Amino acid sequence: MIPNSALLLFGPPGSGKGTQAVLLADALRLPRISTGDIFRQHVKDGTVLGREVQAIMQAGQLVSDELVNRIVESRLEQPDCAGGFILDGYPRTVPQAELLDRLLERLGKSRVVVNLLVDYNIIVGRITARRSCPVCGASYNLVSKPPQQDLVCDREGAGLVQREDDQEEVMRKRFEAYDLQTLPVLDFFREAGYRVVEVVGGNGAPEELTAAIRARLDEE
Ligand code: AMP
Repeated sequence: MIPNSALLLFGPPGSGKGTQAVLLADALRLPRISTGDIFRQHVKDGTVLGREVQAIMQAGQLVSDELVNRIVESRLEQPDCAGGFILDGYPRTVPQAELLDRLLERLGKSRVVVNLLVDYNIIVGRITARRSCPVCGASYNLVSKPPQQDLVCDREGAGLVQREDDQEEVMRKRFEAYDLQTLPVLDFFREAGYRVVEVVGGNGAPEELTAAIRARLDEE
């Protein structure tokens, strides 16, 4: 992959974006910026921002562009992002993509988009089986990555929980938001001439998908 790049991970909720972002960040030694994680941390810490976004997240809707953009802008200016970074869950709307485009121009970063294509039925099965540890944040999947002991975190021994926005009704709303607000971002990337790498995900091991993505990124 070209050094000093912004790697943008793109795909519907439950496509494995978050998992791939973690694995790629590790392999490529790049910081991973997940706007969803940033918001969840604020909610957990009970900050002013956390209180502002909690209800929006619980309803499966998107936080305002103005707020997300402000957070991303200050994060990308931190010194650890100087050599490149991975964005997970941002941009999700065209106005976010426009701001990011200007920001990347200013920061002198080349852009690569990884678009994860995953069958809808696989996604629904995967999201409803997703659980996490309320103490350490480790993520599990009751089907593909179960804990050693039923519904208990391997590391902390705490009872696993389901993200409120992974429940079925909220999930439907998140898909609606994806189709309406986020899919047009792909057209924006293409029209702006970004390199878009499409990779088909599915039920395989996450590490296999990471290897496939890396191979595609190294192609040019
Ligand atoms: P995620 O973990 O990326 O699925 O994000 C969880 C939730 O955080 C989303 O459903 C939104 O409510 C909010 N969120 C995260 N990133 C963004 C973004 N770029 N724009 C608007 N809302 C966001």
